[in-house]
Amino acid sequence: MKPQRTALRTHSFTESVIRDMTRVAKKHNAINLAQGFPDFPAPQLLKDAACDAINADINQYAVTWGTASMRDALVEKYHKWYGMDVAGDQEITVTCGGTEGMASVMLGVINPGDEVIILQPFYENYGPDTILCEAKPVFLTLEGPDFRLDPDHLASLITKRTRAIIVNTPNNPTGRVLDQEELDAIANLCIKHDLLAITDEIYEHIYYEGKHIPMATMDGMKDRTITLSGLSKTFSVTGWRIGTIIAPPDLTKAIRKVHDFLTVGAPAPLQEACAVGLNQLGKGYYSSMISDYRDRREILYAALKDSGFTCNKPEGAYYILADFSQLSDEPDDVFSRVLARDAKVSPVPGSSFHSPAELGKSLVRFAFCKRSETLLEAGDRLRHFAHNRG
Ligand code: GLN
Repeated sequence: MKPQRTALRTHSFTESVIRDMTRVAKKHNAINLAQGFPDFPAPQLLKDAACDAINADINQYAVTWGTASMRDALVEKYHKWYGMDVAGDQEITVTCGGTEGMASVMLGVINPGDEVIILQPFYENYGPDTILCEAKPVFLTLEGPDFRLDPDHLASLITKRTRAIIVNTPNNPTGRVLDQEELDAIANLCIKHDLLAITDEIYEHIYYEGKHIPMATMDGMKDRTITLSGLSKTFSVTGWRIGTIIAPPDLTKAIRKVHDFLTVGAPAPLQEACAVGLNQLGKGYYSSMISDYRDRREILYAALKDSGFTCNKPEGAYYILADFSQLSDEPDDVFSRVLARDAKVSPVPGSSFHSPAELGKSLVRFAFCKRSETLLEAGDRLRHFAHNRG
């Protein structure tokens, strides 16, 4: 028999469904509410700083774990926002986006055979990242419509092989912002069973209810938390690929080795620009960003409700996960393509946030990181589609 030409590790996950739906949107000339990237400009200050850095010939490799300017800015940021004391030379790694950050973290700290608990619905990368480490993803379902964490259920999934829990708050795709009680439950179990918390905090500045609490600030958690974030969402620069990792020094050493051999480093001039953004954009920037997102959330939420979807208003991040059972009996992947083709609005099928995939079969996710005009137009198209179906 002909030997397999591709590595077995790639056989148990698919290509990104989110990015596939971007291609589907292009094919049908649909409004892309699938992949979460803004259709509005980044702050002028950042764009100018990037041009300045390139014109100043900052065009060669940056220090592998991040430019001094960027690490200084991050030390300052974590102190100012959360009161955290982070050692810039030992505890920070700047990566090529949150995606590389998560892969470097997992490859740096997870062994083959380990179990990794993933709260679901989950962001699609966590499963493949776990599989690339030859570890086993163990899924804890947070049941809709509330998507609250059940501590007993979480405790019941912990075994001798459990190594880490991946926590994403504010959450993509549910919009949940985990509250103190839920975070306490996770922290207590991490401490009791000597587990790592790998926290994806990429939406840390985008929330409408509650408050963002980094797990690393909680009692007993600093030494066992790996905090991932980045500037893609905060500064609307998803294509710049600037991610950040804060981890205790021993873990950082391992993570930096992986990061170094995967990518050498994140783009040098764009790190300079992000440092300027971190240093110079004040509270006003963040509060107006939230207020703009709140308006966008209202537009999309109203359109989805009017069109017969069942959904919650997200507490954070910029997605709405919506049940479409009143509109169609089709499975989520078929319905998503029908929406892109017939309504000319492209969502992401809910199955890509679930394991087993069937759990998401009546759900689709819409992103609202778009200009109001884009969302209003998408809303009109969805209402029209629903009206014609009804
Ligand atoms: N985080 C974004 C989303 O969920 C973008 C994903 C990506 O393509 N990196 O849509």
